Amino acid sequence: MPANDMSQLVSLCQRRGFIFQSSEIYGGLKGLYDFGPLGVELKNNLKAAWWRAMVYERDDVEGLDSAIIGHQLLFKYSGHADTFNDPMTECKKCHARLRTDKMADPKKCDECGSTDLMEPRAFNMMFKLQYGPTEDGSSTAYLRPETAQHIFANFKNVTDSTNRRPPFGIAQIGKAYRNEIIARNFIFRVREFEQMELEFFVVPGTEDKWHEYWLEERLKWWESIGVARSKIRINDVAKADLAHYSKRTFDLEYEYPHGHDEVEGIASRTDYDLGNHTKAQDEFNLTAKVHKNTHSNTKLTAQNLETNSHYVPFVIEPSAGVERCFLAVMNEAYTEETIPGKDGQPESTRTVLKFKPHIAPIKAAVIPLAKNKPELVALAKSLKNDLQKLGLGRILFEDSGNVGKAYRRHDEVGTPVCITVDFESLEDGAVTIRDRDTMAQQRLPITALPAHLTTLIKG
Ligand code: ATP
Repeated sequence: MPANDMSQLVSLCQRRGFIFQSSEIYGGLKGLYDFGPLGVELKNNLKAAWWRAMVYERDDVEGLDSAIIGHQLLFKYSGHADTFNDPMTECKKCHARLRTDKMADPKKCDECGSTDLMEPRAFNMMFKLQYGPTEDGSSTAYLRPETAQHIFANFKNVTDSTNRRPPFGIAQIGKAYRNEIIARNFIFRVREFEQMELEFFVVPGTEDKWHEYWLEERLKWWESIGVARSKIRINDVAKADLAHYSKRTFDLEYEYPHGHDEVEGIASRTDYDLGNHTKAQDEFNLTAKVHKNTHSNTKLTAQNLETNSHYVPFVIEPSAGVERCFLAVMNEAYTEETIPGKDGQPESTRTVLKFKPHIAPIKAAVIPLAKNKPELVALAKSLKNDLQKLGLGRILFEDSGNVGKAYRRHDEVGTPVCITVDFESLEDGAVTIRDRDTMAQQRLPITALPAHLTTLIKG
């Protein structure tokens, strides 16, 4: 039985230390969450899986980690300062602020049902800040609403330092900030989140082919982390709903507990961004009185080696949110099972997170059968240390003393295997491995564990 509403996931996340409300001791800030001991592991594993697939396993992508704060001109010429808006209305009766394009009925307040609403107005979602000690217009900067613009701004730095030419990509994982009118559905819509973005630069005229290619690549990736294709609906976004930079966008919509909703957008961004920043350079260099020769240094173009001419590459952008990915993976993994009773015992239930092993926050728990037997504890600790050195992720030493309870606790956080060290282990050098999904137990020599665990986690 999977999760049938969001509250089951919220409660598990809080109880087991995946996710906490941010600034909770002061009442919390809506739309901000902190990731706890297990949440940070899961998040890191998801990001590592993305980076591996998008950078390491390819020969045409470079990485980047840029600043989070952006120059005001970066977001002026990207179009965000003028057009990164959502339509907002306010209910005159209960004063709720509402996003009109997401309302069940745009004429009726979602909160109190009143029809007395203000005229919708455009609300810009960027967080503006004052950069440095001077408070005037020139000190305005923004928290980036997407990681993409810094990738475009670094296009020439990366191509100059790596000799890349289209088709190639620049990947980045990092924080993004949007002052959403309404933050809702747990970590689905928040004001601070992380994006995993690839800007893939292609020769103009080849963008449709690459767009289809990336759609397929991304669906394969979602499958590899445990989100079946059948759970993702592809929305070929209607022209009227496209973002200001997009020629065509495929939204991947996962079936969340609150309904199908976007987990990733794969946009064909044309030459909009590189083109705008390139045009902007002329204006900027003139006003800043930069010598004309410097213009070519900042043109975000690529060279056609056959004709020697320069062109502005087109861009395909697969962009996924880490939090939305987290929620999808968590929802897919969540399982409630009935365990048949044995020998006249009544049946029981258990909650299991059936994560793919490489995504699981804890890879294995090593448990000494008795916590007051120093030889057992010492053997379990040294086994934990040896397994940790394999570099597979977190291995936990568990000395709670109750193996049965430890198994259930680890089922609930998705640990693929528990390894129990008992008195016989001291004699025969073997341990009991218990599998999360089948609950089957087998005896294995300690010397066989590294290979066993590596195969299980890496596949
Ligand atoms: P939505 O229509 O749901 O507001 P969007 O189309 O504006 O999303 P994009 O600009 O395409 O989103 O951003 C790329 C990805 O970043 C999204 O697919 C999503 O996974 C993530 N993302 C965007 N906004 C948020 C948010 N407020 N909270 C969490 N993740 C977000």
